[in-house]
Amino acid sequence: MEAQALFSKLATYVATQNWQYIYPVWSRRAQGISIGINLHPNHCCNWHCIYCQVPGLQRGPSPVIAMPVLQAELEECLRWISEQAKTHGIAPEASLVQDIAFAGDGEPTTSPQFPEALKLVSHTLAHLQLPILVRLITNGSQLQHAHVQLALQCLHALNGEVWFKLDAGSDAEMRAVNDSHVPLALHLQRLRTCCTLCTTWVQTALVSRRVDEQIIKTPALPGYIKALQAYQNKIAGILLYGIARPSQQMAATCLQAASDSDIEYYVRELRAHGFHVRAFS
Ligand code: SF4
Repeated sequence: MEAQALFSKLATYVATQNWQYIYPVWSRRAQGISIGINLHPNHCCNWHCIYCQVPGLQRGPSPVIAMPVLQAELEECLRWISEQAKTHGIAPEASLVQDIAFAGDGEPTTSPQFPEALKLVSHTLAHLQLPILVRLITNGSQLQHAHVQLALQCLHALNGEVWFKLDAGSDAEMRAVNDSHVPLALHLQRLRTCCTLCTTWVQTALVSRRVDEQIIKTPALPGYIKALQAYQNKIAGILLYGIARPSQQMAATCLQAASDSDIEYYVRELRAHGFHVRAFS
């Protein structure tokens, strides 16, 4: 049995479990099983990205996380994978599971319990002696807070990494794509902070938007390259991806997935400007 077949079996098992916080997925970006941690089962996020796949996305506070429940779900997921790996004589779970990723249905770092949840993951992996990579997938909007910075230092100590969202090369694009009124310059300052604390990849969704009967690729390449130029030696690289699954947002009626040739063009141009790029269509 291969990793992807084991994931299908795992998905069937999880469907019977009614877990609140843990959701294993097959990650095309991580190329394997990714154990997601969702600190926002209430679907609340402080951004409202045009391509967001969270149904019923809303603005609102983070819910209180029941840490013992989170811990039990994580341990059960890891135990299931470990048992199946042994039963089928396949690679140990540490190589089957590509990462444990804080992501979910809202921005993980807006939860006041994010640092505590990160510690819980760290202790669980240490206790089970599992060298699994821990990732934070973030919109970067909370990097100004000391408790988030401290958590990222802990993530760094775990050899973890951050995927930092940057979908724009201008203030207008941030508003149109992320529904965020944060100026791009301030977002880039937060990216700089992130890079000083932990290994950081920039992750960018390339989309085509219909505006006044015109199709506009976003982020527009010149502004995006200009924005990132000063970070070339600070970031680990760029993860560029198209929209594989349909957006669940109303504003998505003006949205189209970027074509493979658009993505290839962006990759070529970014590499020509010296960036390390990994692309997912
Ligand atoms: S930051 Fe993530 S969860 Fe929040 S709206 Fe954007 S894509 Fe959705």
